[in-house]
Amino acid sequence: MTLSVNPNAPKDAAAVILLRRDTNPKNPEVFWVKRGDKLAFLGGFHAFPGGQLDTSDSEVVVKNSSDSQTAAMISGAARELFEELGVLAARGAERLTKGQRASLFDDLESGRMSWPSLLDHYGLQLDAGDFTFAGRWVTPPFSARRFDTWFFLVTCPAKQEPRVVPGELAAGEWIAAQDAYDRWLGAHVVAVPPTLHALKTLAGGISPDLVDRFLAPPQAHGDPVRKIEFRPHYICFPVRTPTKPPATHTNSYLIYNSKEILVMDPGSPYADEQDALAACVDELIGEGREVREIVLTHLHPDHVGGVKALIAHLGGAVAVAAHKETAQGLSDIEVNRLIHDEDTIKLEGDPHISLQALHTPGHARGHLCFHDEQTGVLITGDNIGSVLIDPPQGNMSDYLNSLQRMRALPNLSVLFGGHGPAMANPYNKIDEYIAHRHEREAHILQAVHSGAATPKEIVAHVYTDVSPKVHPMAERAVLAHLEKLVADGLVVRNDHEQYLTA
Ligand SMILES: [Zn+2]
Repeated sequence: MTLSVNPNAPKDAAAVILLRRDTNPKNPEVFWVKRGDKLAFLGGFHAFPGGQLDTSDSEVVVKNSSDSQTAAMISGAARELFEELGVLAARGAERLTKGQRASLFDDLESGRMSWPSLLDHYGLQLDAGDFTFAGRWVTPPFSARRFDTWFFLVTCPAKQEPRVVPGELAAGEWIAAQDAYDRWLGAHVVAVPPTLHALKTLAGGISPDLVDRFLAPPQAHGDPVRKIEFRPHYICFPVRTPTKPPATHTNSYLIYNSKEILVMDPGSPYADEQDALAACVDELIGEGREVREIVLTHLHPDHVGGVKALIAHLGGAVAVAAHKETAQGLSDIEVNRLIHDEDTIKLEGDPHISLQALHTPGHARGHLCFHDEQTGVLITGDNIGSVLIDPPQGNMSDYLNSLQRMRALPNLSVLFGGHGPAMANPYNKIDEYIAHRHEREAHILQAVHSGAATPKEIVAHVYTDVSPKVHPMAERAVLAHLEKLVADGLVVRNDHEQYLTA
């Protein structure tokens, strides 16, 4: 018998909402950070310091802690706070000089001493009284990386100042909670629901019921978040779909203002998921809005599987809009309005939201991205993600041209992809995808040079690290690269469907 481990299971993590000492209780200041662009998880997001638990975190004895799990979480939170901001929230730290704290930091970072032995050695003691539990949020299952994160409110210890330690974080600052929340409202930052909830709650002031307000929503107790507003007016609503692994969900988007709602890619064929999305749409309608239309980025089943159910739910009175190639490729969904390259969709109402459609083929012939020039949002459909280029719908030359076209857009600030969390490091991400394709192409060309002549032979050569189960899919991707190499004149195809050096 083998134990099955769910690779998508959330990992324990802890984060610290650091409050400024002697801050104005009516509008307290908090230390927030901007995560580095290169981080695989939430790169470029505004957040609080924190991270995954270390195994040694549970070896720390935490005074006044009710149980061992809470103690481990507090220990992890304190360690992350020290590693990322140099703030040591331990009793006894007030006896240390700045220089001693610095050498302690070096001991930890260099691995000379573990966190538990270091606290021990310097006579430091963590006390649960310094860490106020402020909720436990679980990353929704649409993300490949998931965390079960405990948040703690901590007042910055006297005579210590947070500073961003170069590495994982790009920046950090003290900011009044209301100002931080306003930065999000003004579309200047990208953040996840627990961060936004914390800022909004703190903006309400430090009152006796502060912790109750933190813990009020069920999501603060680990209930999955369904509706994710990384940016105001753009709801990301992941729905479970029979999509390609490792993805398990497709993102539907609800773009709304005071009067109208656009529904993009209602992709789930499952009734429970369709109901959940419909309930979210109904809520927006209940506040006085109308659904303007359903928009499709492309024709793949995991992006259109819930279209008919949503139309039926809305009483049939809603149009579907898509590119001509998508309309022609869909057999059982009627597209009522065609969207052409550079067409603009303007929402009636407040604020003014204007989306320009970009015909970006490659993953699918009729693929569309949508660009909100004013706030730098780019809805990328499946052009960014675990993208399969499968001919004849897929075309590698087109795909690379589409990526270049996306890369050339000015002032991008966030990418909303078809699967997984938003990306707040748009240029970095697009560059990553372009580089990945070039690297793959170079390997395939090398394989052809060394005599591999069919997609099957090339896969055996190039995809040495993937399970044979996915080889058929990989062969489709290799074929797409070969077609591009033929078009580029670097490879020729002979009459026996073999690919040879040109
Ligand atoms: Zn797709």
